[in-house]
Amino acid sequence: MLTGFGGKVAVTSPLPGYVRNGIYTIDEVLRHVTFDHPIKKKTLLVDFDGDLMDMSSMRYLVFKMKGIECVVCGIVGSYFAKEYDAKIPRVEGRPLKWHFNLYAMGVDGAEVLMTKDHIVPVSRGGGNGLRNFQTMCSVCNGVKGGNALLG
Ligand SMILES: [Zn+2]
Repeated sequence: MLTGFGGKVAVTSPLPGYVRNGIYTIDEVLRHVTFDHPIKKKTLLVDFDGDLMDMSSMRYLVFKMKGIECVVCGIVGSYFAKEYDAKIPRVEGRPLKWHFNLYAMGVDGAEVLMTKDHIVPVSRGGGNGLRNFQTMCSVCNGVKGGNALLG
């Protein structure tokens, strides 16, 4: 387990168009995630080194409650990176919309993004509650990046 990043380490995001501002341990991020704010009906803002992060995300809750290991290949998330998608136009006067992306280290040393996956697809009647989500890496999930990461 990696400890004590405290947002000090910053390397380039592997996601096209993403800007990264530090990495954090699993505990530094998930200790702020609770059932009391499971979805985006309410915001739960936490200050991470000057950036207000909304911790009321189903994705974070899935990582906290279902684990940080891919259900298919078994790769395990190592750390969170604070990132935002620079392709989304900025709204004047509003703060940047930072979020945390969870990454594992692949066998080749490249970062592998971890995602939440619908166990039963929405197209087949699956819901958007916690029970219908599981943790899956982006390789197994077929996600190439973009909006699928958010939420
Ligand atoms: Zn996987």
